[in-house]
Amino acid sequence: MHEASIALSLIAVATETMLEHGGGRVSALTVRIGQWSAVVPEALQAAFPAAAEGTPLEGACLSIVFVPGVGDCPTHGPVELELRRGLRCPVCDLPTPTLLQGDELELDELELD
Ligand SMILES: [Zn+2]
Repeated sequence: MHEASIALSLIAVATETMLEHGGGRVSALTVRIGQWSAVVPEALQAAFPAAAEGTPLEGACLSIVFVPGVGDCPTHGPVELELRRGLRCPVCDLPTPTLLQGDELELDELELD
């Protein structure tokens, strides 16, 4: 239940942010999930309602923004990676050891009531 613990930590971060803004309830939140973050968006969506029960996020609408993996090819610069090929440039097949984006798991937006 990897995604359940992720849902709980997102709720903790969202609650903290909400308190900083003096809000009483979160009505919607957007989370950015990288293709390479090993988080399954569907599983997170499924785990969220139960995790949010009894918190200021109960009943909040969870939106997930999927972020594709982008690697840094020595020849081609930033290239969009294909998960099944691993960290390799899809054009020239050179290794792209630096992941520029795609491993994020972060709270992007909060809507407060
Ligand atoms: Zn390349």
